[in-house]
Amino acid sequence: MKKIAIYSSHAFEEPYLDDANKNSYQLIYISEPLSSNNVSLCSGCAGIAIFTSDEVSADILSRLKIEGIQFIVTRSTGYDHIDIKKATALGITVANVPGYSPNAIAEHAVALILALSRHLIRSNENVNRYDFSINELIGFNLDGKTVGIVGTGKIGEVVCKILNGFGCQLVAFDIKENKGLVEKYGLKYVTMEALCHLSDIITLHAPLNESTQYLVNKTSIQNMKDGVMLINTSRGKLINTADVLEALDNGKISCLGTDVYEKEKGIFFNDYSKKGIDDQVLKSLINNKNVLLTSHHAFLTKEALKNIADTTMFNISCFTNHSENPNQLT
Ligand code: NAD
Repeated sequence: MKKIAIYSSHAFEEPYLDDANKNSYQLIYISEPLSSNNVSLCSGCAGIAIFTSDEVSADILSRLKIEGIQFIVTRSTGYDHIDIKKATALGITVANVPGYSPNAIAEHAVALILALSRHLIRSNENVNRYDFSINELIGFNLDGKTVGIVGTGKIGEVVCKILNGFGCQLVAFDIKENKGLVEKYGLKYVTMEALCHLSDIITLHAPLNESTQYLVNKTSIQNMKDGVMLINTSRGKLINTADVLEALDNGKISCLGTDVYEKEKGIFFNDYSKKGIDDQVLKSLINNKNVLLTSHHAFLTKEALKNIADTTMFNISCFTNHSENPNQLT
């Protein structure tokens, strides 16, 4: 039976992977992220399955090649954590899991919007202290507000559908327009600058690449409406955290809801409640009462986990059976 090493494996996903595997492969679960210290653990495996917490650099890819690894499947949609150019050069095939559950991420983004617009976290904290006063809890209706959606792919499309139901006006910025959204939801495609000028809420759904890194920075923030709400369920590096913290301090941005953080690797997905953390920027985010931070779990629904496991095993079987794979990236 062929062996597959599953790096950064989590207890929450192992039953789903075991079910999807149907005893076809020997799955070797390694809970630590892939690194130069544990790369040799995949020795004798045909391929490896990784997650967003695994940084697959050129050096690691060269080591994987020496270990005889022929393919990498990432249990995620985003693949910015893999040096795709180097993998191609080494002849290592890579595949991802596109669109495993756009609803999971879109619904999390909307959950962040609602929790912030209605001060749900603060209200619950007050109630837990038997403080039932409501003077500080004035929110705002979503109906009639303009929401700017950056990236109208699979997740952005579901966000449009949900927010259209709330009665929001939708504007979007994407390098590729989806005419269907214009017809169905009256969405208007505009430039990034115009989106910033028009939006009461901005929500990010573009992938991390050279053109989207630090898309939200001092300059784009200056173009935004005073008191804008910013939502990020994509990748932390889409926003310059220091610039956003400054804008939160001076009120230009009223609140930030984010599932991701630019230096989350090695911290998110782990329990640091006893050890504490050293990252001062992350501490500033956590301590800011206008920031709602979740630890990269927008994807974490039963439906999404099943789809991720099924597609991961499909990707593995395509490689081992030499069959065509629409999810292949290299
Ligand atoms: P997708 O490929 O279907 O859509 C991405 C959209 O962004 C496309 O329409 C594309 O044209 C657009 N885009 C690309 N470059 C752009 C640019 N420079 N400016 C504006 N738009 C641009 O991807 P998706 O399934 O909708 O996922 C989007 C992102 O969400 C992923 O890349 C990933 O980073 C993130 N994600 C996060 C989680 C989570 O748990 N937080 C889970 C899944 C995906």
